[in-house]
Amino acid sequence: MNDAIPASFVVSAPSGAGKTSLADRLLAGVSNITRTISHTTRTPRSHETDGVDYFFVDRPAFEATVAADGFLEWATVHCHLYGTPRAEIERIQLGGNDALMVIDVQGAAAVRRMLPDAVTIFVLPPSRKALIERLDGRDGLGGGEGRAERLRVAEHEIAEYVSYDYVIINDDFELAVQELVAIVNAERCRQRRRQADAEQLLADFRAASADA
Ligand code: 5GP
Repeated sequence: MNDAIPASFVVSAPSGAGKTSLADRLLAGVSNITRTISHTTRTPRSHETDGVDYFFVDRPAFEATVAADGFLEWATVHCHLYGTPRAEIERIQLGGNDALMVIDVQGAAAVRRMLPDAVTIFVLPPSRKALIERLDGRDGLGGGEGRAERLRVAEHEIAEYVSYDYVIINDDFELAVQELVAIVNAERCRQRRRQADAEQLLADFRAASADA
């Protein structure tokens, strides 16, 4: 018995707050939820695979998808283009799964307009210092300009937490994973999502009473 309407979850965070690791743990530990694979014009990092982490495309291909209205939302982030293909959401939800979008604050704002039922979650680092340490430890980012720019962007992104339904502070990673899983499970138990199952059960009871 599970005729629930699929849900859409959006996770955003400043770069270095740990949203990708959190999303990976959610996907590994909870069934029937699938991450949308975005298109991006940035080049792949050493550990990334085309079609798994992103679809890595050039700017003309990205712009052609924009022109064809193929993105649910798209945005420029750190000088590169990123977009969530409509076809990804459709593929996931037609398969009966919930969709997880790990996207920036501009993308989240667009999804809120397009899918008002989407559940939005913001991940915060425990402190500015912790974010700086995580950024410095990251392959390819280093210190200097790149870091200063990411911290400036982080400040603007953090200010957007007020628009999200939930906020997770990623201090103790295991606790943050538990909180994310709890949000997904609680949202799945919402009355409107369980309505089809509850109504079916009620119809069975009523039919049995009528027969008695
Ligand atoms: P990165 O290049 O580090 O993987 O991602 C940079 C930022 O772009 C992150 O905040 C990430 O969540 C965001 N991002 C990834 N995919 C999308 C997308 O499809 N749309 C939007 N708006 N942001 C995205």
